[in-house]
Amino acid sequence: METLVVEHPLVAHKLTALRDARTDSPTFRRLADELVTLLAYEATRHVRVTGVTVETPVARARGVRLAQPYPLVVPILRAGLGMLDGMTRLLPTAEVGFLGMIRNEETLKAETYATRLPDDLSGRQVYVVDPMLATGGTLAAAIRFLFDRGADDVTALCLLAAPEGIAHMDEAFADSDRPIRLVTAALDERLNEHGYIVPGLGDAGDRLYGVV
Ligand code: URA
Repeated sequence: METLVVEHPLVAHKLTALRDARTDSPTFRRLADELVTLLAYEATRHVRVTGVTVETPVARARGVRLAQPYPLVVPILRAGLGMLDGMTRLLPTAEVGFLGMIRNEETLKAETYATRLPDDLSGRQVYVVDPMLATGGTLAAAIRFLFDRGADDVTALCLLAAPEGIAHMDEAFADSDRPIRLVTAALDERLNEHGYIVPGLGDAGDRLYGVV
């Protein structure tokens, strides 16, 4: 997996405010939204385009527009929803699919509990959004699901990543010939014994939407 940690003072500023335990949910949601838009700018660097010609008021100009089929944005429920608007603001013509993943407490493996996605993803560029790459189990299962439906180019956007999650992804897709990219605002130190990213920002879903 190709990993890009976006180093930019605005990204660092917003991430620091997100980490702060005193930041309330409305502010957290706004900051997450702004941060995703900055990450999305980098994550879409390889988005497919086709050449077009337009008439300016002065002359003919060559340019590009997004190629079809349009990209698919896939938030992983529930916390990924907090990153959806930031993505679609930059990619308004993208389609949106939904993937609900939960950890089976017996097998400890991530399982799919809800899907709303096209059956055939061949030729689609897919942008998966999930705030925290912790153990990597959920993201790996999600990407396997997308590959099974034919996706051939997947970029994951995570606000934060842990080294353990990146190692898990590298191992899980070591034999894959399909490109996987990760774009994140920071690579943190480690996971703690409860599976939380350290220093992290806590439970992203709870901080976005409150504890349920
Ligand atoms: N999921 C979260 O919401 N936070 C973590 O630190 C790890 C996984």
